[in-house]
Amino acid sequence: MAFSAKTRKFLVAFLITAWSIALIYSALHSHPPKFPLKAKRLYHDNRLLMGTFWEVTSPNKQASGIVFSEASSIEQLLSKYIPASEISRLNRLGKLKVSADTFYIIKKSLEYYRQTQGAFDITVAPLVDLWGFTNQNFQEPGADKIRAVLNLVGSDKIILHEKDNVVEFKLPGMKIDLGAIAKGFALDCAVKKLKENNVHSCLINAGGQIYALGDNFGQSWKIAIQGARKPEITGILKLKNKSASTSGNYEQFFLKAGTRYCHIINPKTGYPVNSGITSVTIIDDSGLTADVLSTAVFVLGKDGEKILKNKFPRTRFYIK
Ligand code: FAD
Ligand code: MG
Repeated sequence: MAFSAKTRKFLVAFLITAWSIALIYSALHSHPPKFPLKAKRLYHDNRLLMGTFWEVTSPNKQASGIVFSEASSIEQLLSKYIPASEISRLNRLGKLKVSADTFYIIKKSLEYYRQTQGAFDITVAPLVDLWGFTNQNFQEPGADKIRAVLNLVGSDKIILHEKDNVVEFKLPGMKIDLGAIAKGFALDCAVKKLKENNVHSCLINAGGQIYALGDNFGQSWKIAIQGARKPEITGILKLKNKSASTSGNYEQFFLKAGTRYCHIINPKTGYPVNSGITSVTIIDDSGLTADVLSTAVFVLGKDGEKILKNKFPRTRFYIK
C-alpha cells in the first residue's frame, strides 16, 4: 500500500511523538520525582561546654538539644573545674563511691594507661596544675618541685573497688584529670542518645574533636583539617560514623626563654611533651579511643604509631 509523501510525513511525526510519550511515561514511573523535592536543610547550633564551643549540624532539628544535654550532664560529673563534680570530690577526698559512668571512664583510663605504656595517664593532674595549665597562671616550676609532684603520678596508684564502684588513691595529694578522655566519652554518649532518638545524621564538633554520625544526604561528612599555623587547611577528611581527634602543642602552650611548653605532660618526666611533633590526629569508630590515643601518641612521639598500631588495627594515625 503506497502512502502519499504527506501521509508518510504525518505517520513519522505521529510515531516519534508516541515513542517519546512512552519514554517519558516509563521514566516517570521508574523514578517518580518526589514532590515536593525534600529540601536538603541542615540545622546548626553551638554551645559553650567543657571550656570550648560544641557545634552541632544535622538535618534533624532536635539533634543539638540532645547533644548539648548529654554533654552537659557528663561535664557536671567529670569536670575538674566544677567543685561539686564527682572528679573534684574524689580529688579532694582521695576515696569516693562514684556513679557507674565515672567508674567506667576511670576503669577505661587504667586500661589505656597500660596499653600506652603509661603515656596516657590521668594522674598527671598535679603536674597540669603545677605548670599552670589549669588556672592559666603559667610557670616553669623548677626541677625540685617537679620531682616532688612526680611521686604522686602513675595510674597504678589508683585502686578500683568493683563491687561498690569505689575509687581510691593510694597516696594523699593524688588527683586525676580527665581532660584527654572525657570529651571523647561525651561524644560517644551523645551519639548513643541521638540513635536512641532516631537521629542518624549529625556532625558534632567538640572544640576540635569531631564525631560524624551517618552521612550528609548520602555524602560523607567533609572535615577541613586545620594546620598548626592557622588558618591554613592541610587536608580534607571524609568521615562516616567515625571520630577524629587532634592533640597538639599549638593551642594551649606558653613560651619561656624561647622554649614552648604545651599542656600535654610526659608522665615519666613531669615536663610538657617536647617530642618533635606538632600534632597527632586519630580517626577511630569511638570518640573515647580517638581522644585518648591522640594524646598518648603525642606523648610517645614519632614511634607512637609503631607502638600502638597492632593494639588498635582499625585506628588511623596522622602524625605531623
Ligand atoms: P587532649 O590531648 O585531648 O587532652 C590534653 C589534656 O589532658 C590536658 O589539658 C590535661 O588536662 C590532660 N593531660 C595532659 N597530659 C596528659 C597525659 N599524658 N595523659 C592524660 N591526660 C593528660 N577548660 C577550661 O578552660 N575551662 C573549663 O571549665 C573546662 N571544663 C572541662 C570539662 C571537661 C569535662 C573536659 C573534658 C574538659 C574541660 N576543659 C575546660 C578543657 C580541658 O581543660 C582541656 O583543655 C581539654 O580537655 C584538652 O583537650 P584537647 O583535646 O585539646 O587535648
Ligand atoms: Mg582530646
